[in-house]
Amino acid sequence: MTADSSTGLFDLTGRVAVVTGGARGIGAAYARALHDAGAHVVVADLMEAEGRAVAAELGGRARFVPLDVTDEEAWAALVTDTVETWGALDVLVNNAGIANAGPIEHYPRAKWDAVIAVNLTGVYLGCRAVAATMRTQGRGSIVNISSVEGMRGSTHLHGYVASKFGVRGLTKSLAVELGQHGVRVNSVHPGWIATDMTARIDPSGLPIPLRRGGVPGDLTGTVVYLASDASAYVTGAELVVDGGMINGVGHL
Ligand code: NAD
Repeated sequence: MTADSSTGLFDLTGRVAVVTGGARGIGAAYARALHDAGAHVVVADLMEAEGRAVAAELGGRARFVPLDVTDEEAWAALVTDTVETWGALDVLVNNAGIANAGPIEHYPRAKWDAVIAVNLTGVYLGCRAVAATMRTQGRGSIVNISSVEGMRGSTHLHGYVASKFGVRGLTKSLAVELGQHGVRVNSVHPGWIATDMTARIDPSGLPIPLRRGGVPGDLTGTVVYLASDASAYVTGAELVVDGGMINGVGHL
């Protein structure tokens, strides 16, 4: 669809969106924002009680579906269930993620495997699970949540950085392959955002030109934009949402 008017460009009425890791943190904010824009929303997460609470708060156009993003069969079941329930699957936000760290000589294989499994293999499995449905529909938007750590190196964060660079690359190969079917694939690269994941990092020491750490609401406009027809001609793009931080690494 070509966007030729500013009216309703961000309207997601009638669209069906899945948000992984939607039970808390930034994922819950994406679920709320997509719902506010009119979408039907599947909150998919390992955390059942929290995920059900988010879906219940949103009401009739929201459902919780248990999902471990590393589980191929669970992905297939989620896609089948979503299409049977709401008739389509238009938007996938691959947001679920974990982080771990350590100096390379004390960064064991188990940590590497864990973060790659969730952050990279989980995104690959999600994209693969929705591809046929979106291709058949002739439309779809996949939003892959990477990080500023998918744009630069960061001490101790070896597996995390590798996974987030991987997500950025996978996004581009999929954008090239699926564009002909009307399916757009983009990546988002948040900076420091206040959630459980970053609770032990003080943002006041970070070189952020906008002079504050981010909150989940700082990301939602970008994800609604990428999900909607406002971004109808945008694919394979990487949107950095970090208060300007990576423009001046090491200095202000
Ligand atoms: P968070 O820890 O608050 O939430 C992560 C969510 O993902 C949780 O609900 C968790 O249960 C879910 N999850 C984890 N493993 C899962 C799995 N195997 N299957 C399904 N769900 C799973 O983290 P957050 O800060 O909200 O981060 C969300 C995303 O944003 C992550 O991909 C993260 O890497 C990315 N990100 C966060 C920041 C930040 O500063 N917070 C910065 C850049 C990127």
